[in-house]
Amino acid sequence: MSRKKILAGNWKMYKSINEARNWIRVFQGSKKGVLHVDILLFPAYTTIYPIGKEASKANISLGAQNLHEAEEGAYTGEVSGKMLVEAGADWVLIGHSERRILFGEHDERINLKVLRALISGLKPILCVGETLEEREANQQEDVVRRQLIEGLKDIHPDDLYQVVIAYEPVWAIGTGQTATPQDAQEMHSFIRSIIGSQWKSRIAESIRILYGGSVKPDNAKELFACPDIDGGLVGGASLKAETFLSILRAF
Ligand code: PEP
Repeated sequence: MSRKKILAGNWKMYKSINEARNWIRVFQGSKKGVLHVDILLFPAYTTIYPIGKEASKANISLGAQNLHEAEEGAYTGEVSGKMLVEAGADWVLIGHSERRILFGEHDERINLKVLRALISGLKPILCVGETLEEREANQQEDVVRRQLIEGLKDIHPDDLYQVVIAYEPVWAIGTGQTATPQDAQEMHSFIRSIIGSQWKSRIAESIRILYGGSVKPDNAKELFACPDIDGGLVGGASLKAETFLSILRAF
């Protein structure tokens, strides 16, 4: 089964609106020839609407880095799925390790967010991955299995076609330390097997699984050549359009 590749940039809490516009200008100027990859950017909430037109001209889809699980309500400081769609987001990151670790988001809440994203018409990217401690204790498969099964609980199988999984070992995020292509492939294949056994093999074959964790121009090619790696979720190296383009060329 051929799955369309994805290259996604998670800008975290970086980039003003002007910086984002400049990034798209540089990207647009030299991206020719790589139209077979879905390009997604995840800017700050406040940047999504202002850069919508430029992004769409450059064939870039936009997403948010989080959402609240409720439809609406008295949740000061939070943003709903409906608001994100209205602002021009098509995608949303859910369960990023920074949300899990720094903001205490647990599997049950992450699952509610995935459900809310789907109800709102957003395509969720569910992030999963073990910490260094868990890997050293050889618990990575148990952790990832739990995050997947809990995170995707109660989702209608037909809706799973809208979901993308990002395997992001926590010890590789922003550390410069990358999983070897062999380790990453092994985990991606394991994720696909869990999806196949919990849901349907047809879903497992078509669901896209991204690798994230210190993806750079010099390691992207080997990672993206692995049969179960359908692209990348890139943090630090997505902040410069030129570097992101070099990663894109790895496809
Ligand atoms: C991320 O934040 O999702 C990420 C993968 O970051 P980095 O590429 O900087 O490791």
